[in-house]
Amino acid sequence: MQKEYVVGVDLGGTKILTAVADLEGNILARVRKDTEAKKGKEVVIQKIKDTVYEAVQEVGIELSQVKGIGLGVPGPVDIKKGIIKHTPNLDLDNINIVEELRELDTPIFLENDANAAALGEKWFGAGKEAENMVYMTVSTGIGGGIIINKEIFHGAGDAAGEIGHMTILPDSKLQCGCGNYGCWEAIASGTALSKLGKEAVESGKDTLMSDLVADSTKVNGAVVAKAAEQGDKVAKEIMDKIAGYLGIGMANLINIFNPDTIVIGGGVSQSWGLIEDKVNSTIQARAMDSLVEDVDVVIAELGSDVGVLGAVATALAELDLF
Ligand SMILES: [Zn+2]
Repeated sequence: MQKEYVVGVDLGGTKILTAVADLEGNILARVRKDTEAKKGKEVVIQKIKDTVYEAVQEVGIELSQVKGIGLGVPGPVDIKKGIIKHTPNLDLDNINIVEELRELDTPIFLENDANAAALGEKWFGAGKEAENMVYMTVSTGIGGGIIINKEIFHGAGDAAGEIGHMTILPDSKLQCGCGNYGCWEAIASGTALSKLGKEAVESGKDTLMSDLVADSTKVNGAVVAKAAEQGDKVAKEIMDKIAGYLGIGMANLINIFNPDTIVIGGGVSQSWGLIEDKVNSTIQARAMDSLVEDVDVVIAELGSDVGVLGAVATALAELDLF
């Protein structure tokens, strides 16, 4: 019997990573190109096609053996129409990407990148046993994907799972990229962490962070985490504050979705040891007891492959191959 394959395309603001996988999700070839979004949408679309052609060629198969292509996009999408609605860092707004990629002559399945990542972790990573799972990624922002009965919950306009925009602090003066104040993302992301670190250094507080960087502009989340690891009191307080906010948001998610698993990805997962206790104690304090008992909070497993494996998982899910 002729072997069959799927392709996953992780379209990012700086790179396009495309992989060919077998139907078990084993990656057989991968091709990476810089997105070069500044050169315009035609260039980006051509690059997507080129990565697919090259990856397929690397495996030594025909495109006709590819059952579907999953495409993870950094922004909201209209899955049924195949339209990318908005991409903050790419000039692809309101593009019908499925139409643009028609010459590939293969079914294309569009998905928001955080949802794709959730599917990737569910099928190939930390959520393999999960049926009802929340995936959250905490880096410069906070994104998420909700899995209910092993499937992504898309909502009315394919935009469900924007967990980073829950209002957590209504009186906060921290404005979010979405325009609202006090969003989870504005107060508990890596961006918030580095902002608090910068403020501490600028205010002349006695902190190791000042010794770790040449000046306050160089303070980022990693610097705060490093100082906290070395026992710096100010950095530890900042990590605690962020951990508390993360715990509040997670308690809300637990109360709403009653997940069996929360998978935490993104930069914060590298500092999990520093915040785990505070996050867990906040969840215990704020979520309903019986729901807390149901949930395992675990760290993501796929690392930098989460995007491309998420795109592979998107194709396999849409083709009903799981
Ligand atoms: Zn927001």
